[in-house]
Amino acid sequence: MAAVKACNILITGANRGLGLETVKQLLENSCQKHIFATCRDPDGPKSEALRELARKHPSVITIIRLDVDDPCSIKESAKKVGSLLGNNGLNLLVNNAAIVARGTIHTSRVEDMKNTFNTNVIGPLLIIREYLQYLQTAAKASGTPGMSCNKAAVINISSVAGSMTRKPSNHIQSTVLPYSMSKAGFNTLTVLAAEELKADEILCMALHPGWVKTELGGEKAPLEPKESVEGMLRVIGSLTEKQHGGFLDYTGETIPW
Ligand code: NDP
Repeated sequence: MAAVKACNILITGANRGLGLETVKQLLENSCQKHIFATCRDPDGPKSEALRELARKHPSVITIIRLDVDDPCSIKESAKKVGSLLGNNGLNLLVNNAAIVARGTIHTSRVEDMKNTFNTNVIGPLLIIREYLQYLQTAAKASGTPGMSCNKAAVINISSVAGSMTRKPSNHIQSTVLPYSMSKAGFNTLTVLAAEELKADEILCMALHPGWVKTELGGEKAPLEPKESVEGMLRVIGSLTEKQHGGFLDYTGETIPW
């Protein structure tokens, strides 16, 4: 099985849900690494499980405050991470944090549409911008041709709800319209960023985790976080330039834009 061997990894929204599960599973593989586990309220009650993990693995996990909605917080986090990164740079950036908002054409609130676009599209764009210099350092330092997550990569955790061509199996897209529109924007960001990052050999792609039991996915979801993240890490570990600018799910199946 392909493994994620990236040395320096940063993940947003690492305090719960799929982000936290990703940190847990990254700890299980034996490759030497450092994880910058970011969240918006490191000292708050929702980050207790992450703090506990960091206490157990102080040399592997550094918790960093990063509020995706706040450009200053993104800049400050990048400065902090930059000061802690060695000459190897940042190998893997996982844009995982997101919010969901429900609504249809009739019921979607303007405020929800603005908020989902802010958190799910603008935030990740600013994060890529602020962390690009460290990804470029990692790409140069690797000394190997081609693309991989162990060299330098941006993985955008998106959703099939943002696909414009896949028919919704359970009408989920139309009932979470603000979220779906924001994820479609996030998918566009992925394609455009992939174009810009190509020259630096930084891999960029979108990944759908499946429908998973988390606060966002809800209780009816068929997948457990463990299975989804196992699949996503398998996919991430196997990526090459062939998947650059692509959209896959946690099983490795291509999703139409
Ligand atoms: P959860 O709701 O369980 O977790 C969301 C995470 O995002 C939390 O850590 C939350 O932090 C964080 N977050 C939200 N807003 C911000 C912010 N402004 N700044 C920093 N962190 C923030 O969701 P999931 O774990 O299920 O979702 C993870 C990713 O997977 C998302 O991108 C989602 O769209 C995607 N996805 C999930 C599916 C599912 O079925 N679960 C299906 C398809 C895609 P806090 O605790 O502070 O709120």
